[in-house]
Amino acid sequence: MSTTTKKIPLLDLKAQYSQIQNEVEQAVIDVLRSAHFVMGPNVQAFEQEAAEFLGVKHAITCANGSDALYIALLALDIKAGDEVITTPFTFAATAEAIEQTGASTVFADINPETYNIDPAEIEKKITDKTKAIILVHLYGQAAQMDEIMAVARKHNLKVIEDAAQAFGTKYNGKRVGSIGDIGTFSFYPTKNLSAAGDAGMCTTNDDELAKRLRRIRVHGSDRRYYHDELGVNSRMDEIQAAILRIKLKHIDTWNQRRAEIAEIYDQGITRAQSPKCIPQSSHIYHQYTIAVDSNRDQLKQELADKGISSEIYYPLPLHMQKLFEHLGHKAEDFPHSLKASQTILCIPIYPELTDDELRIVVEALQ
Ligand SMILES: *Cc1c(COP(=O)(O)O)cnc(C)c1O
Repeated sequence: MSTTTKKIPLLDLKAQYSQIQNEVEQAVIDVLRSAHFVMGPNVQAFEQEAAEFLGVKHAITCANGSDALYIALLALDIKAGDEVITTPFTFAATAEAIEQTGASTVFADINPETYNIDPAEIEKKITDKTKAIILVHLYGQAAQMDEIMAVARKHNLKVIEDAAQAFGTKYNGKRVGSIGDIGTFSFYPTKNLSAAGDAGMCTTNDDELAKRLRRIRVHGSDRRYYHDELGVNSRMDEIQAAILRIKLKHIDTWNQRRAEIAEIYDQGITRAQSPKCIPQSSHIYHQYTIAVDSNRDQLKQELADKGISSEIYYPLPLHMQKLFEHLGHKAEDFPHSLKASQTILCIPIYPELTDDELRIVVEALQ
């Protein structure tokens, strides 16, 4: 008699939900009964609690992580004629926000070991038009912040940390999103701290920038019906904030379990390259990414045949996307990003994975 194969998804949101179901459902009902739906007491409380957790002076919520990036760029006065340096190995939203402002996207290749932007490559791309850097803490590991901040200071550039995949990650003891000029977060359902829909946030230690971010988020208005500058509509709603407040209490525990799972994978998986970590950063393993030098797609299929999901984040680096055709890049312009897109494979990781399930994944990979 054969045992039925247990399916192991990349992420199981129902497993998380069942732990906090009663509390979440009560909070949602409370919001519905309050009839206060947008930017009310839960949003205000979440902004305070998130700022406190991250060790940053201001947290300014918004509608999603993509808006957070766009609002951050507007608050830094980035506009047509400016250049902003970022990584080509990220989700499109990072660079899309630059294009939306009218500024030009300038890519700098990644460090092949961490998949994060390489500070030395950033420095090579600086011109007299460069105004800012957007780095990404990819997969949940911090970028090399000391080096990046040093380059930024030397050339008088602003720094945005795209921390969409790294809520809670620490770099030299500081949470990411509290180090650069502005941090941006996404609470999309697949992120490690997630809402029940779209939600996002900016963070900053600068009082003036905080004011500006708050104003741009609501139509450039500090006072209702008085508009000082061009803004957007990017508010967080109360249901999302109420849910995020509940999950925020668990995030350190969940992140720790992710790291524990990663350690089990590190030790068990020898057929592929485990992720490399820099000593300055903790890693919250939004994704656990192995590198497979040959037959990656075959391995993905073999895993699928055994009921194990895996995913390629990201199969096509941004410099090769049609969206960025106008930059005129060739595939080899960013060789490490190209190679990463051809070799990486993200395997199941979420706090509720059981040790039995982990054993199944490790065995399947051997
Ligand atoms: C998810 C993500 C975003 C966009 O966030 P949304 O909330 O989906 O708009 C931006 N940058 C990175 C690196 C992401 O992973």
